[in-house]
This record gives sequence, C-alpha cells and structure tokens, in this order.
Amino acid sequence: MMGTTVIAIDGPAGSGKSTLARRLALELGLPYVNTGLMYRAVAARALEEGLDLDDEASLAATARELRFDLDPTVRPAELTVDGGRPEASLSSPEVESTVSRVARHPEVREVLRQDQRRLAAGGAVMEGRDIGTVVAPDAALKVFLQAHPEQRSRRRARERDAPAQETAEAISARDAQDARTNPFVPAPDAVVLDTTRLSAEESFRRAMELVRKRGLRR
Ligand code: C5P
Repeated sequence: MMGTTVIAIDGPAGSGKSTLARRLALELGLPYVNTGLMYRAVAARALEEGLDLDDEASLAATARELRFDLDPTVRPAELTVDGGRPEASLSSPEVESTVSRVARHPEVREVLRQDQRRLAAGGAVMEGRDIGTVVAPDAALKVFLQAHPEQRSRRRARERDAPAQETAEAISARDAQDARTNPFVPAPDAVVLDTTRLSAEESFRRAMELVRKRGLRR
C-alpha cells in the first residue's frame, strides 16, 4: 500500500459505509477518516451554542474553531475532535435532524474539505458523500455504496439499538433533506456496490477484490 493512497467510500446513511471503511482501513494499515462525524461535530456545537442554522458565517467559524486530527495510537488511526474521541452524542436524533442543514452551507463545506484533505494527505480510507467527487477526485479507488431504504433503516436500527419505525422515518427525513440541499451522486469513475443483500464480510471481500485489481495491494 502506497503511503498516500486514498480510498473513497461514499453513500447514504445505513448503506454500510462505516463498517466497510473501517475494516478496509484496518486491513490496509491506513487511517480511517469519517467525514460525516465532522459535519455532525459542527451541528452539535451549533446546537450547544444556539446558533442560527441559516447563519453561514457563524457556522463556518464554528467549523474553523473545531480541531480535527488523527489519533495514531489506535488501529485504524481515527478522527479526533478537539483532541478527544468523537462523543456518542454526535449520533443523537437532535444532531441527525440538524446536520443536513449545517452541511448545506458552501462555506462550512469548504472549511471541512480543507481539513479532510489535510487528514488524508498521508493516505486514508475516507467515508462520506462527496469524497470521490469533490474531496479526493484523484482517489485510487472510489466505491459508492447503495442499499434498499428498508435494509438501510434495519441496519441503522440495529447499530443504534433504536426502534425500527423511528429509525426509518429519521433516515428518510435525512435522505430527503440531503437530496434537497446537497444532491450527492456517485463519481463517474466510482464502482457502485449495492449492499442490500450483502453481509458486511461479503462487502469487504468485494471491496478487497477492487483493491487488488487496482494494484493497491497484492
Ligand atoms: O455519514 P453520516 O450519516 O454520518 O453523515 C451525516 C451527515 O453529514 C449527512 O447526512 C450529510 O448531511 C453530511 N455529510 C456531508 N458530506 C460528507 C459527509 C456527511 O454533507 N462528506
């Protein structure tokens, strides 16, 4: 694995991005950069401070204030926010129902993108929505995950230990919000992988086949 290899894993909530990206990072000895957490961290801070979610300049200032780094002492190396592990509250319903509104502002995206590129400068498996299209258009491998909405909410409910119906509603609300504000599409050179009927292990195996085909790993 070359030191600066970037692998982009994009896709909607519950498509299996985090599980796959973390596992690939571990396997390939690369840092795992979850960019959704960065948008969530800005949303959480905005809620704490009672910021106006339409106030692009304040939200961008908040994004600039937050410090994002990698913790190299864990395997895979992972994102830290202000020097600590991302808090569980970043997956709260409050944050989930706010994050799209924060992420829609171009200035916020620009600030976080610069951080994301810095974090990936030494190579990384990056997970998000716009990694293959915008953050790392030169990524060595781009995988865009898709899954049937029912399967996505089932996975999310299991992960979060939350009621299925509520999770389904939260996911479809966020999908709709994301689609309105930031229509995320696969990069033209992304490999689209539908994980509806794939186990985590099978998704990982398919991705590793792609890694080998690209000569990123023998
Ligand atoms: O991936 P995750 O579901 O944690 O992302 C949370 C939210 O952050 C998404 O719904 C989207 O609004 C935003 N996001 C984004 N660009 C990314 C990653 C996440 O706009 N690269």
